[in-house]
Amino acid sequence: MTNPTDVAPETRPFEADVAKLLHLMVHSVYSDKDVFLRELISNAADACEKLRYESLSDPALAASEGAKVTVTLDPDARQIIVEDNGIGMSEAELAEALGTIARSGTKAFMDRIASAKEAEGTQLIGQFGVGFYSAFMVADRVDVFSRRAGSDQAAHWSSDGLGAYSVQPADVAQAPDHGTRVILHLKDDAASYTERYRTQQIIKDQSGHVPVPIFLKEKPD
Ligand code: ADP
Ligand code: MG
Repeated sequence: MTNPTDVAPETRPFEADVAKLLHLMVHSVYSDKDVFLRELISNAADACEKLRYESLSDPALAASEGAKVTVTLDPDARQIIVEDNGIGMSEAELAEALGTIARSGTKAFMDRIASAKEAEGTQLIGQFGVGFYSAFMVADRVDVFSRRAGSDQAAHWSSDGLGAYSVQPADVAQAPDHGTRVILHLKDDAASYTERYRTQQIIKDQSGHVPVPIFLKEKPD
């Protein structure tokens, strides 16, 4: 059997609207790029909630440990990692969720954000549910390793946010047992997000309402 990580990654273009949206977000000069963290934490918490919900009808999925979100700061590698032990995504789900815009509000979002003032723009990002892509305001590459609850396979999504992404099978060791690990390779000018006091404050200010505990860790620990 070949090692899953030996398989050549399949590269696919983003849906046209995603490419447009990414371009808009990356090139708008929002002073408040902090929202990316709120968006990733909110997705992580949603994933925990989905697992809880699905395990009501499929008890085999029930998590053995409590739902949690872990944010890891790695200044040496200039990375932020947001991980959850929620429902996770299969390879097909990764491509569907992080390659297309299935939402009808997106066109309206893009029209509004193009003419929005700075402060309004960042609010719109959350309001219209285009949260994940805001990672590319601070990262020049995002890797997502995920494993769906109940599956023995993991998958890897990767993109520089410029027009295409890849999805391929991954070694299970690279993903949580169930859930998702999002690795942000921070841009030069976003390196300060690996400073604990800064990120801790953002989490307090913007994710205080999240119904899942959030742990902040530093690497190396
Ligand atoms: P929204 O959260 O409003 O749906 P996002 O752009 O933030 O929009 O996320 C897009 C989709 O990607 C989500 O709806 C979800 O299906 C999937 N997704 C993103 N992050 C995660 C995660 N950590 N775990 C599971 N699914 C996720
Ligand atoms: Mg979201």
